[in-house]
Amino acid sequence: MRVNDGRDEEETLEILNRLGVLQTGHFRLTSGRHSDRYMQCAKLFEHPTESAELCSRLASAFNDKLRRNERADVVAGPALGGIIMAYETARALGVRNIFAERENGVMTLRRGFRIEPGERVLVVEDVVTTGGSVMEVIQLLRGMGADVLGVGAVVDRSNGGIDFGVDFISLLSLDVTSWEERDCKLCRDGAPIMKPGSRATAGGI
Ligand SMILES: [Zn+2]
Repeated sequence: MRVNDGRDEEETLEILNRLGVLQTGHFRLTSGRHSDRYMQCAKLFEHPTESAELCSRLASAFNDKLRRNERADVVAGPALGGIIMAYETARALGVRNIFAERENGVMTLRRGFRIEPGERVLVVEDVVTTGGSVMEVIQLLRGMGADVLGVGAVVDRSNGGIDFGVDFISLLSLDVTSWEERDCKLCRDGAPIMKPGSRATAGGI
């Protein structure tokens, strides 16, 4: 189930474009592949007002979706991308917030964070691409007896390819395609490669 009903998605896109989270141009990604879009979600959290706004929308979407007696006790996110996201979503819901992090490669709760058996948890992440980190958090928390209610994200880049087995609500679905340099039309057109993160172009996608 996705919450993006058109209007929300358009507004989310406007905010992400305005803050430079989404950029349009000609980029070489860290994978070496080329793309006409670049996304750096950390730049959303550079702006607390917009971050709070988007996380609050996600919280409302979950409140609409879940029955009152099913509402979350805790919001959890994987470090690093999910830390601020979980914090802001938890604040909007008025519940606790924790984050999970990798220790020797294994997702774990540290810093005194804990989950009691039966606690209802929402798992959030800023951008979901493969869903790997979110899945690890779900398994970790279930292993502690948590009832995982759903997954929330600002941006879903999975192209619908993920099934977490619980409700998945994102504010924006975004298909960011990339290709090998030898297949790059932008290179053939002589478009200069832009450094991701530079503020060269704005505009829609
Ligand atoms: Zn290129």
